[in-house]
Amino acid sequence: MNKHGYQYTLRNELPSPKFIITMKTMLRDWSRKTIEDEFQTYPKVSVETEKQAWKWLKDFNKSSILHWYGYSYIIPSTSNKDYTSSLWLHEYATFPWKTFDDFSKWLYAGRLVTLPMMCSCQVNLKTYVCKHAVGVSMHFGLYIISDPDKFESLGKRRGRPKKAGPALAR
Ligand SMILES: [Zn+2]
Repeated sequence: MNKHGYQYTLRNELPSPKFIITMKTMLRDWSRKTIEDEFQTYPKVSVETEKQAWKWLKDFNKSSILHWYGYSYIIPSTSNKDYTSSLWLHEYATFPWKTFDDFSKWLYAGRLVTLPMMCSCQVNLKTYVCKHAVGVSMHFGLYIISDPDKFESLGKRRGRPKKAGPALAR
């Protein structure tokens, strides 16, 4: 019997009572989780992400935000020196890249943010939350910081963001 076959057999020889107990525990935990976690249409935003978003927004050149349509905006990334938001959008629509390097340069030069929570950055694609989307939402008064007192160390705030709540999507 080859190595892999041997491993396979070994796995099948694991005592099934133990396997069944583990499965029962797993299923019980999953079932409870669906009851404990309330239904949500928004991903949870941690205080840490709020802080990152606030800090990012504070240093961000707001005049570089380009309104595309509806709740979609183009924002240049902070490391980008070559692209304006409108050029970035133009290339998003026309696919002019001849090499992967050109494409890659464009990809990381800007982000498409659709309020309140979507963004084309890697962090958002993985976690559904990022400082850009939260930051731009803050900028437009669509995001209410969970605990404004925690932000005092991050600089002077000019009042609380306007109250908007989740009405945006309705
Ligand atoms: Zn992002």
